[in-house]
Amino acid sequence: MITVQLHDKTFELFIPQEEIEKRIDVLSQMIVNDLGDTKPVFISVLNGAFMFTSEIVKRFPYNCEVDFLKISSYVGTTSSGNVNLTTNSIKASLANRNIIILEDIIDTGLTIKSLLNALSKYNPEKIYIATLLFKPEVYKFKNEIDINYIGFNISNEFVVGYGLDYDGLGRNLLDIYKLNQI
Ligand code: 5GP
Repeated sequence: MITVQLHDKTFELFIPQEEIEKRIDVLSQMIVNDLGDTKPVFISVLNGAFMFTSEIVKRFPYNCEVDFLKISSYVGTTSSGNVNLTTNSIKASLANRNIIILEDIIDTGLTIKSLLNALSKYNPEKIYIATLLFKPEVYKFKNEIDINYIGFNISNEFVVGYGLDYDGLGRNLLDIYKLNQI
């Protein structure tokens, strides 16, 4: 078993880089087909979505803008329930534009809900949501908020790598690892 040690915890290989990249190829193609040459604004949710964002925008062949929002709701390996959100950092003009939110992972959905509320105020044409990972078992907004592009549905495990961290470590790992429960 391939494992990595981060702080006090051991994580085991879960989704290898090759599989992630193949899936991102598919998601990107869906985004290109749906958005086309509409000059969309990609909004990347930092810190975790930086690698996913880079891979998605590299595959987008038309004019687009890329902006970043810094949010955090996790402390250690559990959600704090409080989402710190400010949209002041967004420089692109969002009115009548297609927005694509790029998330590393959607867990309870609280982050994405506050983000949608905040971004709706800018009167965009449409807001799409793309996430590399999705935890359907814990998602609270099944009938309310549709996730347009999902890389992988995963069970309720704590994962790291490909941008995701455990207390600051693991973001640079090219594969995704899950917490070893033993
Ligand atoms: P939500 O608001 O959907 O419950 O949580 C979303 C945020 O929690 C993600 O953007 C991410 O920062 C963090 N998060 C949720 N699940 C995990 C996980 O398994 N691993 C890591 N590293 N962060 C997670």
